[in-house]
Amino acid sequence: MRGVMFYEPGKVKVENIPEPTLEEGDIKIQVELSGICGSDIKTYRRGTPYTIPPAVLGHEVVGSVIETRSVKWQVGDRVAVAHYIPCGSCSSCLAGNGTLCPDLFKRRIDPGGFVEKVRVPRDLAERATFKISDRTNWETAVLAEPLACCIHAARNLSLAPGNKVLIIGDGPMGLLHVETVKAFSGVEVILSGMTPQRLKAAQKLAHHVIDAKNENVVQRVKEITGGEGPHHIIVAVPSIEAAEQALEMVRPGGEVLLFGGFPKDCCLKVDPNKFHYDEVKLFGTAGSLPQEFKMALDFLESGKVSQEHFITHIYSMDKAGIALERGMKQEGIKAVIQPSAPEGTIREL
Ligand SMILES: [Zn+2]
Ligand SMILES: [Zn+2]
Repeated sequence: MRGVMFYEPGKVKVENIPEPTLEEGDIKIQVELSGICGSDIKTYRRGTPYTIPPAVLGHEVVGSVIETRSVKWQVGDRVAVAHYIPCGSCSSCLAGNGTLCPDLFKRRIDPGGFVEKVRVPRDLAERATFKISDRTNWETAVLAEPLACCIHAARNLSLAPGNKVLIIGDGPMGLLHVETVKAFSGVEVILSGMTPQRLKAAQKLAHHVIDAKNENVVQRVKEITGGEGPHHIIVAVPSIEAAEQALEMVRPGGEVLLFGGFPKDCCLKVDPNKFHYDEVKLFGTAGSLPQEFKMALDFLESGKVSQEHFITHIYSMDKAGIALERGMKQEGIKAVIQPSAPEGTIREL
């Protein structure tokens, strides 16, 4: 079968790779769409210790079951797959903190998402694979994985109706956060970002949009929140400056959630009295749990979260390099790879 192989930063190549074989309990999926995640773009740009090349990138997979050794699934089932799963029995899992499970990444889709066919190992097939209804198209379902991560973040915030939430970052995750916090309660959302085209999409989603390149973010946020600052701030960019600014802007008793990963060895400078006298809370989230993945799919299928403004480009596998380059330059919003698309496909939606 064909797949996109990552060799080193800036280099991917379509190759023939062995088709995975199934063990008891596994299923095999014909990949319909595979989303390009910020983590794929990061790996393509500078590599990560977790991805040892040559490797297949991608993990946001939707497709049809074409072979099954699982009693749970039948050939022809349309599914979305979470690419990791907590073990369920360690102390973190038992305490309900499955994203902290040391074995979280032990079972993963094989060999990765940017291929024609993937093997879903038994545990994932049983506990982290979810059926997509016939009414839901692939473009909608493929957002389940990134949305699940936003839901995990939102569930860790103490959102309440009427609260003001600031999202810093207009990338696909920043925009998905806007939809997510709105779905959770009647909050008022402010989004700040720097990419004109993404800010245009944000206009349709958020209550207030701030162009951080041309406007004074701190000033504008003050105006919008009547001088008090937001109740909650999600920092969805890997920027220390943004994180420090968030701590400046948040209201006393408010929450700052760091969502993006930061470059290694960077340091946050913060006045500790923010935490003591102002009782500000600072924390982060990463990843999601299988039940949040299921929730994401439900939100998408019921229209509680609209997928309309997110996917802007579909690429064939041979154009994956271009897709990743464009992701680096923040062109478009969310891009997906369609393994069955004819060579040379670059489709703008
Ligand atoms: Zn992802
Ligand atoms: Zn565990």
